[in-house]
Amino acid sequence: MVECFARDEPPTDKFRGIPGLYIKTDDGGVFATETPDPITPGEFESISLGLDAANIPYDDYWEYMHKVYDARQLAVMKNEDLVQTIRLITSSHCPIGCKFCSSTRFLAEAAGDKQKVLRLSPQQMLLLVKQAVRSHPRVTAIFFDDDDFLQDRDRALEFCALVHAEIALRGLRFLCLSRTDNVDAELLRVMSDVGFRLIIYGVESFSEQLLIDADKKVRSAHPAEQARWAVVSALSAGITPLMNLILFYPSAREADVVATVDSAVELVREGARIAVYPYVEAYPGSRLLMEAPEVKEKHFAIDGIKFRIPWVVVPKDPAVAFLGRRALQLKPRILSDIKRRCGWLGDVCNPIDSLALFLAVYDLLGRSTRSIWDAIETVVGSVTYPLADHPCGPPVSRRKLASVARGGRVLAA
Ligand code: SF4
Repeated sequence: MVECFARDEPPTDKFRGIPGLYIKTDDGGVFATETPDPITPGEFESISLGLDAANIPYDDYWEYMHKVYDARQLAVMKNEDLVQTIRLITSSHCPIGCKFCSSTRFLAEAAGDKQKVLRLSPQQMLLLVKQAVRSHPRVTAIFFDDDDFLQDRDRALEFCALVHAEIALRGLRFLCLSRTDNVDAELLRVMSDVGFRLIIYGVESFSEQLLIDADKKVRSAHPAEQARWAVVSALSAGITPLMNLILFYPSAREADVVATVDSAVELVREGARIAVYPYVEAYPGSRLLMEAPEVKEKHFAIDGIKFRIPWVVVPKDPAVAFLGRRALQLKPRILSDIKRRCGWLGDVCNPIDSLALFLAVYDLLGRSTRSIWDAIETVVGSVTYPLADHPCGPPVSRRKLASVARGGRVLAA
């Protein structure tokens, strides 16, 4: 295949013998070749351990990142030691199957639902880490970019024990992604002891109903409560929890949005960090995308060729869809106001960016923004508070939101 492309030959029948390809046909259709066999443990090990970090120009990347973020931004993000980072992946995928997630489906789709979860052993993980450090001695942190690094608790504990025994790795920091129901106090303490400094939690929402709608399968009768517990426990262990949130989930009602904002703001004030995705991003492969009633598309052109791709899933409740659209329109004005009040120069980063969206939502709903400003002050150190609760514009009247919710005309403001 590579040779054909090198010779500038168009896809031909030769490709039809290669499993796992989708070939565009002359009549505009798509031809799928045979389903490939699932990846075997041996193949996964050889792919993962075959990564040669020396071939990746990390020093250039870090230099670039140091130009993107200044010391103040890194402190606000609590990322001071985490710029010179190397990403490693030690497991094949997360099998949980949340409705909005596409990465959980990639390998299953490719291998006809037969792909088992594959993981490197703790010894192999240590080998990868040591290879990375040897290739790039200036590295300060290893980012385990597995969709759910802590899906096997025993593996995580054994890896931590191996790191603990490696004097040469003292001072190295680690960060990873995890579900909120994979952690416990003991695991977090052990992770903190060996240098884990950041856990990115897939919290998504603090609305119990939305977590059920998203099929998060959190092992708790109270999944939102479990998320709060995981965040607070990470903080107690000395690890910064970063909560990934989706504010306007397709089935969200106003009360769900408010539940997420209130909990997230409270936890940011405790020391957690947030990254808010306004909508579910429409990644092909996710179950949600297949059944979503309304998907907004993105149109763009590259070299004069026009493309149209699914972009975000629009909330079903017209009032929430309206609120989301208006909040995103208002956000740039709010960000300028925050910058002025904090004496902030240059681009803002998270969690301020996400808190600006919360401010926009609460402005529009006519709710008090005081706790959000308190969170901003906690994060940046000082802020001149607005005298009124809604400095950026009049709130949308409750009557108007109610009318939109009843199916009234949604204004393209
Ligand atoms: S737990 Fe995370 S990675 Fe796994 S399916 Fe859900 S969203 Fe995707």
